[in-house]
This record gives sequence, C-alpha cells and structure tokens, in this order.
Amino acid sequence: MIKPPKLLSFIFLAGVFAYVIAFWVLVTVDADSAQSRFDILVSENAYGRSIGHGEQLIALRMEQGATPDELAETKLDLANAHREKGKPERAVALYRDVLTSRLATRLELAERRNIKKHVADLELALGHSVKAAGIYAEFLDIAGDEAARQKPRFPGSMEASYVLLVQAAMDSFAEALPPVHDEDITTGSEVEKLQEATSLAKLGGYYAAQDGGNYAAAGLLSAAYRTRLTLLGPAHPDTLHTALLLGPIYQEIQRHKEAEELYLSAFHAQERARGSNNPDLSLYIRLLADVYKKQGRFTEAEALNTHIQRLFKDAFGARRYVTNKLRDRRMDINRPVSAAFPLSDEYIPDDLVKAEGFDVPLSKNSDLAEMSVRMATELDEDDDVGLPVALAALIKACQTSDDETLTLRSGYRSFSTQKDLYGRIGYRGTVTQPGMSEHQLGLAVDIDVNRRLMRQTDRAYQCFEENAWRHGFILSYPPGNKYLPGEDTYEPWHWRYVGKRTALLYREAGPINKPQEFLAALPCYEERAMAGIWSIAEEQDVCLEGVNVNVSASTDPAPAKTGDNVYYDNNSVVPSD
Ligand SMILES: [Zn+2]
Repeated sequence: MIKPPKLLSFIFLAGVFAYVIAFWVLVTVDADSAQSRFDILVSENAYGRSIGHGEQLIALRMEQGATPDELAETKLDLANAHREKGKPERAVALYRDVLTSRLATRLELAERRNIKKHVADLELALGHSVKAAGIYAEFLDIAGDEAARQKPRFPGSMEASYVLLVQAAMDSFAEALPPVHDEDITTGSEVEKLQEATSLAKLGGYYAAQDGGNYAAAGLLSAAYRTRLTLLGPAHPDTLHTALLLGPIYQEIQRHKEAEELYLSAFHAQERARGSNNPDLSLYIRLLADVYKKQGRFTEAEALNTHIQRLFKDAFGARRYVTNKLRDRRMDINRPVSAAFPLSDEYIPDDLVKAEGFDVPLSKNSDLAEMSVRMATELDEDDDVGLPVALAALIKACQTSDDETLTLRSGYRSFSTQKDLYGRIGYRGTVTQPGMSEHQLGLAVDIDVNRRLMRQTDRAYQCFEENAWRHGFILSYPPGNKYLPGEDTYEPWHWRYVGKRTALLYREAGPINKPQEFLAALPCYEERAMAGIWSIAEEQDVCLEGVNVNVSASTDPAPAKTGDNVYYDNNSVVPSD
C-alpha cells in the first residue's frame, strides 16, 4: 500500500474546500448560479433543500431590482416547496403574490384553480376558516348555475370541477367551525368584515342545500349571522336572511334553543319595524311555533297559532275570496302549469302588452314577442296594478347595487316559440317542453342578472326571495322540484305572477317550496283561509291530500280531467272568451 505524501493530501483537501467555498459564494451572491441550482432542486422535487436556495434567490433578485411579476415564477416554485416541506404561512403569502402577478393571467385556468385550492386548504389548516370560505365562495361564483344543481349538468366542465372542489371541502369546514358563534370572527375594516360575511353566507347557503351539509352550513352561516347582527343589526334584510337560512338547520341538528333565539330576534326586529299586527310577522311566528312544538311546548305553540290566525284574517278579508275565485280561474292568473297541467297549443292570452311600456328593463329588443307579458289586472283589487307594473316595481326594489343589472330576458312565449326553443336548446335543461311552460300563460318572467340568467348566489335572488310575494310573484321551480321532466328543474331565474293575494296566501298558508301543489289545491287553501282553519305542520295539511303534480307520479302527459288529485278544472285550458 502506498501512503500518499502528507503534502499532496493537504493540497487535495484544500482544493475541495476552495471549490466548496467558491460554489457557496457563487450561489449566494450570483443570482444566475442560484437560479440554476434552485431549478435543478425543483426539477428533482427536492422540496426541503430547495427552500433555502429559493429564498436566497428571491432576496438576490430583489436586490437587483426585479419586479414582482419577474419573481412570480420562482415564487410559485418556492410556494410549492413550502407547502410540501416548509412553512404554510409563507406558502400562502407566496401563492397570493403569484395570484396577483401577471403570471396568473398567463396560467391555464386549471392551474390557477389549483393554486387557489392550495391557498384555501392551507388557510383552513392554519385555522383561517373565513379566508378559506372567501376562496370557496369565489369558486361558487365561477361555477355559476352548475353550483345550483345537485348533480353537475356538464360533468367534465371547468364549472363542474369548481363545484366538486367546494363539495370536497365540506367536512373540513364542519370540523373547523363550531355550529354556534358567539363572537364575530371576521377581520379588517367594517366593509371587509361584511364582505367576509357575504362569502360565509354564500358558502353556508350552498352547504345547507347539500346532503350531509348541516354542520358545515351551521358553522358558516352562524359566523355570517354574528357579523351581520353586530354590524347591521337584527332588522337588516341580510341579517334576517341569514337567520331564516340558519334556523331550520339548527332545528335539524337538534339545536332548538339556538333556532328559537334566532327566530325571536328576527320576530322582535320585524315587530319594531312594522308593528305588531303586520302580516309580515306571521312567517316568524310559524317558525317559532314549529320550534315550540318540536320541543313539546304545545301550549306556547297553540298561543302563537291563535295569534297568527288573527293576523291572517286581518290580512285577507274573507269575502274577497268568494268574489275573486271564479274570475281568477277564468283569467287563469292562478292556474298551475306543469307536466301534470299542460296548456293546449291553442292557448293564447288576450291581454298581452309590451313590458317596455311599463318601464321594465329588457335584455332583448322590445319588438320581440318574448318582451310581452299579460296585463293580468285583478279588477276588484283596490291596489292591483297588473303584472307589468308589479314587475317593474319588483325589479326596481331589487336593483340595489351597480354590479348587478336586472333585466327581463323572457316573458310570453307562444306554444310554437316554445316548441322551436325546446327543439334548439332543450338539451341544456333551461327550456321547458311546449305546453308545460308558464311562459305560454304570459304570466312567467325569466330574469337576467348582468345579461345571464339569475342565480341562487346573486344578491338580487335573495331580494326576490324576500320580496317577490309583495308584488304578486312566486318562484315556480324551487330546488328539488319534480314538476317537469329532466334531471334537475330548479330555475332560480323563473318567477311567476299569481297576483298579490295568492302570493301572500302561498307565503302564509301554503306548503313550503311546493307552488304547483299549492296552485292545484288553491280552492282548498282559500276555503280554509276563509274559515280561519290553520295547520302549521305540512303533515297535517289536508289540502295536500291526494295532490300529486310530480312528473314521477305519472308518465302520462295528459292529465286526468276527473279524480281526487285535480282541484283545478282542466276544461278551462282554452279560455272561453
Ligand atoms: Zn322561465
């Protein structure tokens, strides 16, 4: 064995040492070398080791005066490394920089979506549920109408992919947020807090409609409610809206006490604002009575029941029903239209007017037949102004912000127009078969928000939900309805005029979210209203007995003209006059 001379060995070691120093100096002070070293580590997925180099690289580039846009690509790689191995806070900060850089506009949509998803997950892991909710609420906006459906209509689409991400996050929110919030957890200025509350409410409202979403919804809505209650007060429509979404969820998860508090607060706020004899109160009284019953507090429930009957009788002069009933039926203002109650191809209303003449803002050229609606005036109603005036007033009342513009997209459609339309775009599911559309009655309107169909997540939709009845409109196709053939016939944009009195009766005494059942059994509801008979629970509602207007109940498109289940006389399908 030859032993190397000591001097040679020393020279060799010194050489290695010098190389290491030189390399270290190079990557520490020379950005280009640092860049190539970082790129190699990134390409090898060596996340842990790449972090130090990446941070150093960014520091060097910034010293050289690099702009945020020039740093974005490095930041993206570094954020990924931090997400895998490093600090989640730092990953979030870097990702957020990337999202506001010019790089974000060049990224593929899917890539941008993934970055946001990473940010949302990290925020959730860091305990920043409100920030995460903001991102998922944004996903709901992008998903648009797909988010309103139980099953995506276009499963492979970008919109559907956003819906799936939101659905996948449901359990994380249920874990992260307690179902009851005693304190406001939003942050920033008052405006920012309210924006955060809007996101919380939007996401909570979405989960509320999903199977198994009660706990996630309770946490999110309760957080939104607390902020709105604190900043806006109990009587503000946004606070009330959140309370009305949250209350039923509390009841479902057996938190009756919390539900009672919500309803009581809403009731007292409304009582102060509108007076104790206002029929607006009956909604809250009904909800309260239901809570009492579920807790076995029957005496209190009965007391409310009596109170509500009095309010109700005040609001509906009994005699008006008798005088209106026959005429309404002839005018078809109250008739149901669906697969179970189709219209004949000859049905044409005789009081069509151009909506433009009544200051209804339009989506389309006013000369199109679709821009007409029925006048539908109820002659013996003192304050009845007819459909177009009521529609203009409703749109005006809900046209509250500059970033949502409301217009009429579609009013009257003849049988043949509906037939053409169904033939052309029926596959999209937003058009009903000819003869089954309320548009042929001239009493239905499709509303656009910013020139696309109104969505459940629009502010204007919330406003319609709360106020449409005051102007005589109801939502014809609520979530989960089975009135029309097809997978999903929820239509948040489609509002039907039934007249103020009937809309009020539906709201006060009708079955919840069953407009077609209500219209089919309207004479029964009217008679009971006259007699002051009231049933608070749907299972006790005798008017609903034997009424089945769902497609699934009968595949026969022609409805029976006689039989228990038809209160409505189909012989008047073609108007006699
Ligand atoms: Zn419609």
